[in-house]
Amino acid sequence: MKKKKPILTDSFGREHAYLRISLIERCNLRCTYCMPEEGVKLTPRSHLMTYEEIYDIAKIFVKHGVKKIRLTGGEPLIRKDIPIILEKLASLGVNLSISTNAVIVDRSIDDLRDNGVKNINVSLDSLDRKKFQEITRRDNFEKVFENIHLLVKEGFNVKVNAVLMKGFNENEIIDFVKFTKDLPISMRFIEFMPFDGNKWDMSKLVSYEKIMEYVHSSYAEDKVIRLQDAPNDTSKNYKIKGYKGSFAIISTVTNPFCDTCNRLRLTANGHLKNCLFSSSESDLLTAFRAGKNIEPIIRKAVSAKLAVRGGMDTLEKLQEPKLHSRNRSMITIGG
Ligand code: SAM
Repeated sequence: MKKKKPILTDSFGREHAYLRISLIERCNLRCTYCMPEEGVKLTPRSHLMTYEEIYDIAKIFVKHGVKKIRLTGGEPLIRKDIPIILEKLASLGVNLSISTNAVIVDRSIDDLRDNGVKNINVSLDSLDRKKFQEITRRDNFEKVFENIHLLVKEGFNVKVNAVLMKGFNENEIIDFVKFTKDLPISMRFIEFMPFDGNKWDMSKLVSYEKIMEYVHSSYAEDKVIRLQDAPNDTSKNYKIKGYKGSFAIISTVTNPFCDTCNRLRLTANGHLKNCLFSSSESDLLTAFRAGKNIEPIIRKAVSAKLAVRGGMDTLEKLQEPKLHSRNRSMITIGG
């Protein structure tokens, strides 16, 4: 009989079968909510994981029950060795997926498909070219828009992520929902979250409740269908009757979903984060390079995972800058 793999379980009984690997700290966009204006201090290249290290470390997680790996960043597709990273990770037999801003995804279609990637998450925070430029500090709207259509045409399952901010793109919620009318995508609204240097404050947040208010003010009740969420899903999913796509809300701030969290995060410099909001990290790469067994370090980090948002279990704590600014900027975590 095939031996069952040991699962990485924390002290609350949550099993961790999902690893998000950040491949790079750099990005070809400069989204204001993701990174500070002055940029981030980049880790020297020699301290970042090589593709061999990514593979070897990922393999250890797979041995411990990880079944799903999502590649993120920074922008994962700007890594020159992305084809070989995809190939190596695909050989681990995991469900492999990627988050990208889609600016250059058209160059990687074959690599993604040939390595079994089916699910692609794309960031798009505005359907207006000028606003896109304002938020990303780059003029790439057309390319991203075209590439979303290309990915759909090529048969990928596409989720489009928009971080909502009051006074910026809140007025586009219904346009985004309409975007799902003829396009079979899942449009996901993400509540703006606090990270180091992103000038977050609660007043900029567009909450789950508010988003649904907008939806209900544009569509009759019987047109808005609540869909079944997938197990461990971070989003609450809906559909407008007759539309090809669906929409969803990720409400990390107002409705955290930590009790079903199955995620671990590996940063580009090989540190394990047991939670997106955790300020503590475990340096796997240094230990791995020194030839040490990193399994006990991984297990210890998983058992130390706190119940809710890295210890910021109330909205008051989340709003405490000295708590959330101990964390990294999102660009160096990987979303
Ligand atoms: N470059 C890739 C991309 O654009 O998807 C991967 C990295 S990006 C950090 C991953 C996700 O994090 C994106 O969907 C982005 O919108 C989201 N994100 C970044 N900062 C955020 C914040 N402050 N609040 C909510 N989501 C955020």
